[in-house]
Amino acid sequence: METILFLAHTEADGTLAKPALEALGTAVNLKNSLPGATLLAGFIGGSTQEAANRVAACGAAKFLAVTGPEFAASRYSTDASAAEALCRSAQATIVIAAGTSRWARVLPGVAQRLGGMSDTHVTGVTAANGVAVNRWYYRQRMEATLTRKQRPWVMLIDPASQPAWDGTAGTASLEQVAVALTDAHQRTTVTGIRQPAADAQTIRPEANLLFVAGAGWTKKQADGQPHVKDAEQLIHNFLKATRSSLGSSKSLVDLGGEGQAVLSFLSHLNQVGQTGSTPRHPKGLATCCHGEEPHTVGWRFINERRAVNLDPNCGWARGKADVLYVCDAFAVMKKVNELLGG
Ligand SMILES: Cc1cc2nc3c(=O)[nH]c(=O)nc-3n(C[C@H](O)[C@H](O)[C@H](O)COP(=O)(O)OP(=O)(O)OC[C@H]3O[C@@H](n4cnc5c(N)ncnc54)[C@H](O)[C@@H]3O)c2cc1C
Repeated sequence: METILFLAHTEADGTLAKPALEALGTAVNLKNSLPGATLLAGFIGGSTQEAANRVAACGAAKFLAVTGPEFAASRYSTDASAAEALCRSAQATIVIAAGTSRWARVLPGVAQRLGGMSDTHVTGVTAANGVAVNRWYYRQRMEATLTRKQRPWVMLIDPASQPAWDGTAGTASLEQVAVALTDAHQRTTVTGIRQPAADAQTIRPEANLLFVAGAGWTKKQADGQPHVKDAEQLIHNFLKATRSSLGSSKSLVDLGGEGQAVLSFLSHLNQVGQTGSTPRHPKGLATCCHGEEPHTVGWRFINERRAVNLDPNCGWARGKADVLYVCDAFAVMKKVNELLGG
């Protein structure tokens, strides 16, 4: 019989973020498909009651928490101690948590402390022939199904790979679990957060559309001249109007390193593909990007794909896109921005 612990850290305002609700949905589904399994929920944070109330109807037999200002910010020593205490208190055999940067840093170490195993980047959990997890390898080219005998088994669910739990809120009876901290646990302190201005932040995992810019935006156009400033303006206006997420081909971000003119708001973090990211937006629009395999492999999880390219024989035309518009992206995006009122 499995005892499943859904483990969540709360946000600064005491709420649960979407990846946590996705992990909860996975835990609830697993519990429902494993006869005799028990579900428990565990929370860590500066405040935890609001988070527990949000998921009060999830069917957990117990709601456990480690609460206090020492546990508000992400810190390995306190997060690991709190997670270990919750896992031990729950006597969990399976631990399901969101693959956030905070948990990804801590939970494999917690599995080690508990004598268990962990799997990161989990994209599915099933119970057909015993519990099994799915994950992708080799830059999303191969999908594997893994089973494990060792317990506890800690699973980190890739954000946006599962539907979020959407049950109703209520009032959860929270049981606090004590964690003894020494000064050494609290040596590291968060002194502030530095982040780009909201407008400069172009990577938006929650957006409906991934807009990809390729190196073509910086190439000589029909008049024999490059128009990088125009490209920058068109893309910037589109992103501002639609709040889409900005992706890039490797060639475009690499141009910056070669000292060539590039879009000022792009960095390597925007790169999609084999040596970049594999985002999970429902829709994607590639512009001035050739659509070569090392790039399109990063589109594995984009469901609806469209591309704008002058070349009817580009990679997108070879089965990589649902729709290819063979036309000038400068003209297309100018018109699109006009229609968007920008
Ligand atoms: C080991 C390895 C790993 C790699 N990893 C990655 C990766 O992670 N991500 C990645 O992106 N690439 C990766 N690459 C590189 C990849 O193979 C391609 O070289 C790269 O994706 C090409 O970028 P691009 O399509 O933007 O540029 P280009 O190949 O230069 O294509 C520009 C396109 O713009 C079009 N164009 C120009 N002007 C216009 C216009 N006005 N309107 C419409 N279209 C226009 C052109 O027709 C052309 O198709 C990798 C390569 C290797 C070898």
